[in-house]
Amino acid sequence: MYYIGAHVSTSGGIENAPLAAKAIGATAFALFTKNQRQWTAAPLPAESIAAFKRNCSECGFTSDAILPHDSYLINLGSADSEKLAQSRTAFIDEMSRCAQLGLNRLNFHPGSHLNAISEDECIRLIAESINIALDRTEGVSAVIENTAGQGTNLGYRFEHLAAIIDKVEDKSRVGVCIDTCHAFAAGYDLRPASSADLFAMEDGFRKVFDEFDRTVGFRYLRGMHLNDAKKPSGSRVDRHEVLGGGEIGWALFERIVSDPRFENIPLILETPQPQLWADEIAHLMGPLQLSPKAKS
Ligand SMILES: [Zn+2]
Ligand SMILES: [Zn+2]
Repeated sequence: MYYIGAHVSTSGGIENAPLAAKAIGATAFALFTKNQRQWTAAPLPAESIAAFKRNCSECGFTSDAILPHDSYLINLGSADSEKLAQSRTAFIDEMSRCAQLGLNRLNFHPGSHLNAISEDECIRLIAESINIALDRTEGVSAVIENTAGQGTNLGYRFEHLAAIIDKVEDKSRVGVCIDTCHAFAAGYDLRPASSADLFAMEDGFRKVFDEFDRTVGFRYLRGMHLNDAKKPSGSRVDRHEVLGGGEIGWALFERIVSDPRFENIPLILETPQPQLWADEIAHLMGPLQLSPKAKS
């Protein structure tokens, strides 16, 4: 099935996230397990952990439908040894929090070279950071998100994701999350051809995801972020837009939720108007009633 949801708030306690997701009709959700703008956080209270698990189970969310996101401060590819150590400690803490909550994956941005080191050296540091974190934790996969390539962020090419995975020792605990806005901004024009032209060679959706499969492989796909883009393809500017309101358009998102390669992983909205999430989710779930089988 398609797990569709949004990055919901944890205000009032982490246990409220599944309730917030349920309230907008979601079958998946994303969350921060701590304040994403701070380095450290108090340990999760045992009552919160128990309530989170209970609410997930009562609302029907399994760990395969939940995609936690780490803090924005963490840079696992930092050339500054102090910053790198701080990032690694914080990342291990985030992985441990996920494990405590019974979650099986953690979504993060690979890192930035900050013009201090080469892309290759940054990729090596990121992979080393992942290996250390996997070694110190259990049961949680490191899920690398592609980026828009803004500033000195790595991960804007599928090749970067593949190169990191290649250096990770335990391939069973590494995966990727593809953010549609980031991919589009990075120059992957994944817009489908018009429906009249579905088998045209220039179908951007097919072209980009064929390239993804060749370079990284669908077996590593552990989540998607569904965002429209405010800026044109190739701009390398990371500005999310509501679905259908940006440069990408609804056709891509409708295509994703009718393609079985995107089943059974969290499909998460990070669109800028939370008051529209319920409608966006309902629209995405709409085409499911008209399955490809029913059409043919
Ligand atoms: Zn992200
Ligand atoms: Zn994202």
